[in-house]
Amino acid sequence: MRIGIDLGGTKIEGIALDDAGQVLVRRRVPTPRGDYAGTVAAIAALVDEIESATAARGSVGVGIPGALSRVTGRVKNANSTWLNDRPLHGDLESALGREVRLANDANCFALSEAVDGAGRGARVVFGVILGTGVGGGIVVDGRLLEGPNAIAGEWGHNPLPLPAGDDLPLRACWCGRAGCIENYLCGPALSREREIDGEAALTRYEARLARALAGVINLLDPDVIVLGGGVSNLDRLYENVPRLWGAHVFSDHVATRLAKHVHGDSSGVRGAAWLWGGAMVVKSAPRPQRRLS
Ligand SMILES: [Zn+2]
Repeated sequence: MRIGIDLGGTKIEGIALDDAGQVLVRRRVPTPRGDYAGTVAAIAALVDEIESATAARGSVGVGIPGALSRVTGRVKNANSTWLNDRPLHGDLESALGREVRLANDANCFALSEAVDGAGRGARVVFGVILGTGVGGGIVVDGRLLEGPNAIAGEWGHNPLPLPAGDDLPLRACWCGRAGCIENYLCGPALSREREIDGEAALTRYEARLARALAGVINLLDPDVIVLGGGVSNLDRLYENVPRLWGAHVFSDHVATRLAKHVHGDSSGVRGAAWLWGGAMVVKSAPRPQRRLS
């Protein structure tokens, strides 16, 4: 049995999957916001509950906002900022009494869609979350790419390409930079602009998304780009964005597909469970030594 936990900013979701990817049990609790010890305890309690309900012990994978620093082993880059610089990996392993795998939540989304979702059977999958924040993950031949800096796919904090007109002045980002893609393509930004400009805001959004994804296509040349997060439910994106991105891709023809997620809100938690996929998931660098705190 594989247990997946999705640690979100407002809720923590847990599921247990059998070998065929069928959901055995699903549980959800509110995230103790701002409370690190409470967050660790809530995850441990959720795993306990799932194991009681199934009367089985499972492997545990956890999708987190941010990533584990290769230098300190602690959480970095999390917009749930109370997790940053905390030894979450070690604390979860202590609390659960077993080895635990952690990965960025957008990576979990990409893995889930590559294993048995919209990217099934594709060699190179780029998964994108267009939600409260913007994240991305890369899966190649069924393997999650993490990289020596643990930031592979972190496209949301690249600058928006070709900023002009309404893109300016560059918007300040929580990460300390300005003009990050996240500030233009996250759900809250789109909602704000739609309230003011209606349809025009959507057209502008599609143009921005097309420019930003064209950069991904030039660099990675994925077979499929899978969209997740609240904004991904706008069906018009799948027709309009590929019509626009050709102008910015260095090719006479773009074969890359833009696809909607298959598992919806469950992709993150399913991908976390699939972190224990055996040979399917390979880490590209060894885990750093943990510091004693
Ligand atoms: Zn940023």
